[in-house]
Amino acid sequence: RAKRTGKNAVRRYASALGEAESRRALLERDVQHAAERGELALHYQPLFELRARRAVKVEALLRWTHPGLGPVSPSEFIPLAEATGLIRPLGEWVLRQACADARRLPDALVVAVNVSPVQLEDGDFPALVQAVLHESGLPPERLELELTETAVMRDVDRARHALGQLRALGVRVALDDFGTGHTSLSSLRDLPLDTVKIDRSFVADLRGGHAQPFARTLLGALLQVADLLDLEVVAEGLEDDAQLQALHHLGCHVGQGYLLGRPAPLSDVLDTPWGQPPREEDTVTA
Ligand code: C2E
Ligand code: MG
Ligand code: MG
Ligand code: MG
Repeated sequence: RAKRTGKNAVRRYASALGEAESRRALLERDVQHAAERGELALHYQPLFELRARRAVKVEALLRWTHPGLGPVSPSEFIPLAEATGLIRPLGEWVLRQACADARRLPDALVVAVNVSPVQLEDGDFPALVQAVLHESGLPPERLELELTETAVMRDVDRARHALGQLRALGVRVALDDFGTGHTSLSSLRDLPLDTVKIDRSFVADLRGGHAQPFARTLLGALLQVADLLDLEVVAEGLEDDAQLQALHHLGCHVGQGYLLGRPAPLSDVLDTPWGQPPREEDTVTA
């Protein structure tokens, strides 16, 4: 009987593997046509200055609605697009769309765009960014490029060089999901960065206002180092007010999370008080 159960378990496992495999194959095939079929969209999530509760940035987050499967998470399809190299045209689409959308948003808002390590490793990437900025007319300081900590650490010398080239264009550079990789606090000094985004797994430790001495001390140390290096620190994944208060008291200036605003289509953002597009009469005519 035990043997029989074991066999069934193996069979169930094999069929689950088979399903995962076929979903993967299906997504890998269909993501190639997602852009031309109009299945992609960018949503925008606000980043707020905690003290003034003023929106300072929006992060562009890619959304794919598969005709048969419905919404597919970027955490699922981005790695597939990276494996096939499709991330290059996909990332270019995201960059163009985000810069065009940024022109419709208030001048005070910076637009943050996620960049894959595959894109960063392409030697032509800085030239692409420059071309897209030129086409869109977006001032470079209104664009921030987010690279994950693990992406940068894949080849730190190469990344340092590429990030330096991007900053020379005048765009901002952020280190995303900080804390999930193995970057030491001291290596932050050697990277050309404007912003560090603390991964939400650390921020989660401050939920509900529980005393979390270790999390607080760790975040406090990061914030002190960041202050010394003149880096802006963003807390990701703020979901309750206790987290916000704790981070604010630790000296964190900017936050992002469901508490402050969920990712939403551009049209929704344009309807919020902080997303009001510049009025015609405010624009200076030469
Ligand atoms: P990320 O860049 O760290 O983006 C933040 C993620 O956290 C988003 O997930 C966002 O919806 C989610 N989030 C925001 N606030 C909260 C919160 O309070 N609680 C929780 N639980 N989650 C929150 P999303 O949109 O599913 O994106 C997942 C990841 O996919 C992104 O993580 C980013 O690494 C990647 N991604 C998304 N769009 C793009 C893109 O255009 N290009 C590339 N290369 N990667 C992208
Ligand atoms: Mg990001
Ligand atoms: Mg992140
Ligand atoms: Mg993340």
